[in-house]
Amino acid sequence: MVTPQMAEPLETDYLVIGSGIAGLNFALLAAEHGRVVVVTKKAPDDTNTNWAQGGVAAVLAPADSFEQHIQDTLVAGDGLCDRDVVELCVDAGPAQVQRLLDLGVRLARAPDGSLDLGREGAHTHNRVVHWQDVTGREIQRALLAAVKSQPNITILDEHIAVDLLSMAKYGGDPACFGAYVLDRRTGEVKTLLARATVLASGGTGKVYVYTSNPDVATGDGVAMAYRLGAAVCDLEFVQFHPTVLFHPHARNFLLTEAMRGEGGVLRLATGETFMERYHPMKSLASRDIVARAIDNELKKSGADSVFLDMTHLDPAFVRGRFPNIHERCLGLGIDITKQPIPVVPAAHYMCGGVKTDHDGATTIAGLYAIGECAFTGLHGANRLASNSLLEGMVYSSRAAAAVASAPRRRPSVVAPWSYGDATDSNDAIVVTLNWDEIRRFMWSYLGIVRSDKRIERARRRIEILRDEIREYYIDFKITSDLIELRNLALVAHLIIESARRRKESRGLHATLDYPDKLPEARHTEIQLTNGPRG
Ligand SMILES: Cc1cc2nc3c(=O)[nH]c(=O)nc-3n(C[C@H](O)[C@H](O)[C@H](O)COP(=O)(O)OP(=O)(O)OC[C@H]3O[C@@H](n4cnc5c(N)ncnc54)[C@H](O)[C@@H]3O)c2cc1C
Repeated sequence: MVTPQMAEPLETDYLVIGSGIAGLNFALLAAEHGRVVVVTKKAPDDTNTNWAQGGVAAVLAPADSFEQHIQDTLVAGDGLCDRDVVELCVDAGPAQVQRLLDLGVRLARAPDGSLDLGREGAHTHNRVVHWQDVTGREIQRALLAAVKSQPNITILDEHIAVDLLSMAKYGGDPACFGAYVLDRRTGEVKTLLARATVLASGGTGKVYVYTSNPDVATGDGVAMAYRLGAAVCDLEFVQFHPTVLFHPHARNFLLTEAMRGEGGVLRLATGETFMERYHPMKSLASRDIVARAIDNELKKSGADSVFLDMTHLDPAFVRGRFPNIHERCLGLGIDITKQPIPVVPAAHYMCGGVKTDHDGATTIAGLYAIGECAFTGLHGANRLASNSLLEGMVYSSRAAAAVASAPRRRPSVVAPWSYGDATDSNDAIVVTLNWDEIRRFMWSYLGIVRSDKRIERARRRIEILRDEIREYYIDFKITSDLIELRNLALVAHLIIESARRRKESRGLHATLDYPDKLPEARHTEIQLTNGPRG
């Protein structure tokens, strides 16, 4: 057996943490000027990207305009978008769609051969390119195929990043030079060194008990960056998707916004529509408005779910446009062409993240963040649907160009991971229980509608749990579950702390105690001030 302490560090040019759209597109472009190692904690296609249904927003229709897409994004962002970033992403849209096509991504075509453009909530034009209702799966497939034929890229699957390496620990300026990574198959913690370390670790949905996200979305990138001393921003803005399938045998199954875009209508169990009471755009209002409306209706009636009704649409169209959803629901006994679909809201997307500049550089030298784990300024207080895959493409391209000039930094001798006196845990139930507890109280207290009292309750609980987890982390050998729990607890703490600081209701942050918006829109930036903490 390898003695882990003796293992030599592995050195590469670029270390990427995550194999979704952001990580893989970065890897492909960076591989043109250096060696890339992509670590990914489960299978390479176990990503949020793989689950994306709707598609990628871009201005392609003759009747559409860049200004209109910019305006739609700014309106959704409720005063907190960075207009320069919005312009940068929207302007890059058509070129990024072309890149996807060049990479072999199949996109649906209209009868005249042009790209078929779907419509989604809060977009004023049809501008979402898609592949049936499994756009993300198609993008993931094509990117992985391209990566596999690029000899400069190595993918290490079943490898979970534990913590980032900091020069500060060696007496230097705070700069990142790689990461400790746990090989889940062997239990060995490897030391990976790189000129640039790129977080592409996706979202934080698993902080909540109800989520559309797959299990990998535990906010590891945000937690690792924060521990290293990087600034994180606007983590109170959690987007809840209004329509996740409500069924005892379906976990995390999302019903894309495109279903409402194509004419789907929300109804109560009585068959009555209700969205007209909340917004003139009715079922096509932005996600936060629809999610809050459903939350309110469920609280009022005590019902388990509301319903998304597609039964008035042509069944052949519904089957052709949403084949995956049709089949999945049919497997659960729901024919969506004949029966309304029971739906509830669930945590879906993290608008905040690790603060970056226009090239994806964080506030720590050598560390980049791209995709959902990053805060670029695009989404503001609320993401416009289908802007996130676009952002992932745009920022991975920009970061890949920027890292070409990254200097190599590393101490002459790098300390290997210290296993200390940690033993195997015989009390793994603690991990499971803490996971469960965090996810439940975050749903109840930091969910769709918040209040000072709820936030304070959550704050007290998370502090106790974090102490318990810290002790456990020191005493026992690390496992993937423990790493994720530690990160999940830290991200929960950061969401609570960010929400506590926002004394207004804006975008996705709705609080009973401050129902109005403050005159000035401000970001919530948080940073560890006392240096890196392991
Ligand atoms: C159901 C669903 C539908 C969606 N539909 C759309 C849509 O239609 N349009 C749109 O624009 N957006 C959509 N989104 C959002 C979009 O899919 C995501 O924001 C985007 O895919 C994120 O890409 P990413 O590359 O940043 O991260 P991901 O694709 O989530 O990839 C993250 C990667 O990081 C890895 N990872 C995480 N932590 C670690 C660690 N510690 N060590 C090693 N690896 C790690 C994960 O295993 C994974 O490989 C949807 C999301 C969901 C869940």
